[in-house]
Amino acid sequence: MKKNVFISKHPLVMSKVATLRDKNTSTADFRRVMSEISMLLAHDVLSGAELKACRVLTPLGPCKAMKLSQDIIFVAILRAGLGLLDGLMKVHPEARLAHIGIYRDETTLKPVKYYVRLPDKIKDSLVVLVDPMLATGGSAAEALEILKARGAKNIRFMALIGAKKGVRRLAAAHPDVPIYIGAVDEKLNNNGYIVPGLGDAGDRMFGTN
Ligand code: URA
Repeated sequence: MKKNVFISKHPLVMSKVATLRDKNTSTADFRRVMSEISMLLAHDVLSGAELKACRVLTPLGPCKAMKLSQDIIFVAILRAGLGLLDGLMKVHPEARLAHIGIYRDETTLKPVKYYVRLPDKIKDSLVVLVDPMLATGGSAAEALEILKARGAKNIRFMALIGAKKGVRRLAAAHPDVPIYIGAVDEKLNNNGYIVPGLGDAGDRMFGTN
């Protein structure tokens, strides 16, 4: 794998990915576990956030400390990316949220953009783009182009499961973007689904099919 790809080896992430893969996992459990994994992955994804020195008063006196100095924006690729926002907001409620709507044309499997809503100023922010499934990498690559065109300079990508080919493709197309992922699977089927994967993440999360 390319050096900008970080596959989690955390036992909790691995165990929770197994729960998501299981076709007998209920919609309620699927949502909850997705949120829990996103909190665990956030630990690494946000590890490079900028800090500034500050002073606080503890009940026992003054103390030198560090505080986050960087604006953080979580960007969900609609619709399945919404499932990862909940956990991210729990670990960093001050973050701003943004959305990019992209769907895959079922015939060409190419990404089609239909909605973009981002804050105006994103140049100096730490921008975390999220989508649970990194299949061909087409939607994520398109979303990264949109973020870069709007001026984002410091972007990270977070996913639950990727297909080897899609992960490689995205890592090569955007070598400046670290990719944090829960697991990498062998292949895609003819419909562009990751195999073995977990099925359609949006359907499983929203209870649609
Ligand atoms: N999107 C999904 O929800 N699942 C896949 O396997 C691929 C793309």
